[in-house]
Amino acid sequence: MASRTMPGRATFAATWASTRSASTCCFGAPPKTLHSTISQTNSTGDGPRAEHTPRCLATFHGSVACDSWQLTWRSWAPPRVKFFLWLVSLDRCWTADRLRRHGLQHHPRCVFCDQEPETMRHLLVTCPFSRQVWHETLSWLRLACRPPDREALNDWWLHAKRETPKAMRKGLATITHLTAWLLWKHRNSCVFDGEQPSMTLLSARIREEAALWVRAGAVGLGVVLPITWDVH
Ligand SMILES: [Zn+2]
Repeated sequence: MASRTMPGRATFAATWASTRSASTCCFGAPPKTLHSTISQTNSTGDGPRAEHTPRCLATFHGSVACDSWQLTWRSWAPPRVKFFLWLVSLDRCWTADRLRRHGLQHHPRCVFCDQEPETMRHLLVTCPFSRQVWHETLSWLRLACRPPDREALNDWWLHAKRETPKAMRKGLATITHLTAWLLWKHRNSCVFDGEQPSMTLLSARIREEAALWVRAGAVGLGVVLPITWDVH
C-alpha cells in the first residue's frame, strides 16, 4: 500500500516546490498597481499587510483598477447593470466612437441629438437629451444635487453625494446606475430597432424600473422614491 502512495507524495512535493519557486519568481516583487489594487479591496482600510503571501498576491494578478468602485459597491443594482457601469468606466462599450477607432461601420452622430459624435460621455452626460433626462429624474426623486454636466459620470457622483443627505446617498448611487443603464438601452433601441428618441417614454421607463428595483430589494432607492408614486 505504501509503495502505491509514495509516487503520489513525490509528485505532490515536486509540484509544491515548483509552485513556491514560480510564485517567488513571478510575484516576489509585485508591481505598484498590484499593491494599490489590494489596498483598495482591503475592507479594513489598512492597505497591504505583511502576511500577504506571494500566492495571495497572485490572486490579484491581472486585476484592473476601477475608478468607479465606490459607486459600484455603494449602490443596489442587478449585476448586469453594475457590469455595464464598469465597462463604461473602462470605455469598453461599443459606441460609434469606439467602432470608428476599430475601423468598423458606425452611425455618424449621436442618435439622441443628431449633433455630436457619439462617445459614452456624450451619451450619458453631455448630450442635451440625456441632461434633460437626468434633470427630470433627480427632480422626480427630490434629490437637490445638480445633474451631470461635463465631468465623467463617476466624478459627478462623487461630487453629488457630498450635496446629498447621508440617508439618501444609496438611493443616489442606485438611480445613477438605473438612469445610465436605461439611457444606454434607449440608445440601443434607437440604433437597432428604429425607435425614436423620446423623453416621455424614457422617463416612464425609469419610473417603472425604479419601482421594480425597490420591490426587488433596493431599499436605498425606496427612501428617495416619492411616497405618492404608485408601486404596483
Ligand atoms: Zn447627443
